[in-house]
Amino acid sequence: MSFLNKKKSKYPKLFIPGPTHVPEEILKAFCKPQIGHRTPEISDLISNITLGIQKILNTDNHIYLVSHPATGLWEMGIRNSVRKKALHCVNGAFSKKWAHVSDCIGVDYDVLEYEWGKGIRPEDIEKYLKTGKYDAVAVVHNETSTGVMSDLESIGSVIKKFPDVYFLVDAVSSMAGVKIDVESSNIDFILASTQKAWGLPPGFSIAALSDKFISQSKKIKNKGYFLDVAIYEKYYSKSQTPYTPSIPHLYGLEKVIEKIFEEGFENRCNRHKSMAHYVRTWALRMGQSLYAENGFRSDTVTSINNDKNWDINKINDKLLAKGFRMDRGYGQLRGDVFRISHMGNIYENDLIEYLKTFEGCIDV
Ligand code: PLP
Repeated sequence: MSFLNKKKSKYPKLFIPGPTHVPEEILKAFCKPQIGHRTPEISDLISNITLGIQKILNTDNHIYLVSHPATGLWEMGIRNSVRKKALHCVNGAFSKKWAHVSDCIGVDYDVLEYEWGKGIRPEDIEKYLKTGKYDAVAVVHNETSTGVMSDLESIGSVIKKFPDVYFLVDAVSSMAGVKIDVESSNIDFILASTQKAWGLPPGFSIAALSDKFISQSKKIKNKGYFLDVAIYEKYYSKSQTPYTPSIPHLYGLEKVIEKIFEEGFENRCNRHKSMAHYVRTWALRMGQSLYAENGFRSDTVTSINNDKNWDINKINDKLLAKGFRMDRGYGQLRGDVFRISHMGNIYENDLIEYLKTFEGCIDV
């Protein structure tokens, strides 16, 4: 399968870590007629989607379908679980921003900080939790800024030892591309937006909440209105959303879930793994090195140290002229570390073609 070599388009083919490519077949699903948001039709649609996501995440936890980007869910996770203090594990730009969200909403927190490029260690979390000061641990599973993927199962097994602590996970750039077992990882709140490994347009997100998390939320006052779990729960039993949802996204999600099961979720995850392997091997063959530490390298995005001092801006211009949108590195890493995205609707053939074109754009 491939999305390249199709008709010429004025839109560059995306090899950035989100938004990612959305094929025409999925885009078409967005154009179906609208339906009422308090009707049996929408309840059928939402319950189908819910069952699909529960299967992908291996959980019966409540699935919220949310018509705004994932950033809002960072706030939902914190507002609805923290009564004492949150522990934010920070190993890149997005985990740092999530801690900033706690700051902005006046929630007390500590930071367990790692050098960028490093993965999160469960034993470090355990040391903090032993103090008894925290009721939530916030972890970004796949730090899109650095291409570091931490191990949720081992972190979850440590958090499980502390029954009053809630495990909050940002899986924005891993959900639907990497196997995440919510049950065995003991995850109370997991969130993702749709424009990454789900391979849908941006502006929509998904969360899965445990009963334990929902109960904790009831004990917390002054959570505001928009992100209060109680409002979502009121409509969850009817397979509806509290506010008018983006119905086009619901259609798109239904379509993508159908495509995921057509491919086989296991096969989809293996595709991501094998593309990651392909990109890493390519980078090393080209004389570059990998930014993320060994053992914590992402299946969906690879960050590459620009040891060879390639002129990244020039490569970017050349690739754009050939119809490809590359990534030049996130924030402080720009130019020194660049990323190659291999998630969602990107297939190995696309990657081979992209990297071949990329090679042709390097000045020797
Ligand atoms: N978390 C991670 C790991 C991300 O990569 C991003 C966006 O790139 C976000 C959160 C923010 O997501 P959104 O733009 O959907 O709010």
